[in-house]
Amino acid sequence: MNEMFDAAIVGAGPAGISAAYLLAERGAKVVLLERGEYPGSKNMFGGVLYGRALERIIPDYLRKNCPVERNIVESRIFYASQDGGFSIGYRDRAFFEDKRNNAFTVGRAKFDRWFADQAKAKGALIVSATVVTDLLRDSSGRVTGVKTDREDGDLQAKVVLLADGVNSPLAAKTGFRREVKPENVALAVKEIISLPPEVINERFGVAEADGITVEILGDVTWGMNGIAFLYTNRNSISIGIGANLADFAERKAKPYEMLENLKAHPMIAPLIKDGKSKEYLAHWLPEGGYETIPRLCGDGFLIAGDSAMLFNALHREGSNLAMASGRFAAETILEALQYQDFSHRGLQGYITRMQDSFILKDMEKYRRFPSFMENHKELFSSIPRLAGLAAREMLTVDDTPKRTRQHLIWKAIRGEMTLMQLLRLLWDGWRSV
Ligand code: FAD
Repeated sequence: MNEMFDAAIVGAGPAGISAAYLLAERGAKVVLLERGEYPGSKNMFGGVLYGRALERIIPDYLRKNCPVERNIVESRIFYASQDGGFSIGYRDRAFFEDKRNNAFTVGRAKFDRWFADQAKAKGALIVSATVVTDLLRDSSGRVTGVKTDREDGDLQAKVVLLADGVNSPLAAKTGFRREVKPENVALAVKEIISLPPEVINERFGVAEADGITVEILGDVTWGMNGIAFLYTNRNSISIGIGANLADFAERKAKPYEMLENLKAHPMIAPLIKDGKSKEYLAHWLPEGGYETIPRLCGDGFLIAGDSAMLFNALHREGSNLAMASGRFAAETILEALQYQDFSHRGLQGYITRMQDSFILKDMEKYRRFPSFMENHKELFSSIPRLAGLAAREMLTVDDTPKRTRQHLIWKAIRGEMTLMQLLRLLWDGWRSV
């Protein structure tokens, strides 16, 4: 292609589509390149999208038939041992009234496609089934476009936005992002289990359009640093589990076996009973936190979303960071177009926007969280086991005196950890959040 684009965007996920939408809306000549057959065809996530982040891009997204599954009105957390677990949940009137503006479930195949269609309607050129293989540079090293796997597929652009997700060889090619280490990513698998809407409504105590999320921590990840989840869709349940890639390699554990084990857990099995398996998906997610974020822009390019390792593991936020970073990238590109300065200096506004926003503030706040999880594997082994033992003992009613039971619990705790270790865990946990 001999055409010159104002911006070429690599990757039609939430980050890339957000930027393409806003740039096209403001009249920029923008091309969005996606390796999948269509936007969303290759994408998966747990399932919770955040309305406020989307609203900043398409204020009336609900009227534009955004393919929402269920509005999230309750969040539950299970802390599970192999045989049982604790459960807490929070439901709020505000989440019912503030329909879909807070959090809702979506399926990426439908959502990304819909979102990309909105960008197309604004004038963005969407080119699917095309893999960007490299960056084009001029003699000074400035990025001037992208190389694709299509014949005659070089494409010139004043600026390139890398929004190609966590496994981004292109970001590595900029020299800004280090090779992804196994300890900085998690591998997650997810199964979609279909169930009639009325069964979901009854099991989770919700009305047709409302839903809940469940995050499951503890021994379900077999002592590895990870988490599981269960989210309600309109007529299906998304259930998944993931753990640090380095832990998987060390333990030689198989993710799908871990998922099968989760599905048989006494707190989970009744929730998915009689469901039919519809789809099985796997994906990486960035978990290295603040320390692994690369420099966010250079001469002729910017990096957004997962490609920039933007993921808040504690709060399960990634899609909103992707959409917001895509928005900031678009605003910066529009500024650069105005001044015709696409050097790293001309794109500095992106870094300022990111620093002034919740994105880098939150990533920085939780900078110790990844190492806390990595250094305290007892959270996924002995602690849930001991907590389960304590609860089972105190809730089992027979003729054993309670003092004898307490004695047994303390003995088990002292056999696994010292008071100092427990205090260390609490202190490190406090500091990490
Ligand atoms: P992606 O969504 O990964 O999109 C990148 C796009 O680039 C893809 O479409 C890909 O096909 C394309 N691409 C890649 N390479 C190329 C190339 N060379 N050429 C052309 N195209 C290319 N976040 C939440 O907010 N809520 C959740 O509930 C949640 N749960 C998650 C559960 C799991 C199991 C996982 C894996 C992630 C979860 N996330 C969640 C995180 C969230 O999915 C990501 O943060 C978000 O998708 C990042 O968006 P993105 O646009 O940066 O990247």
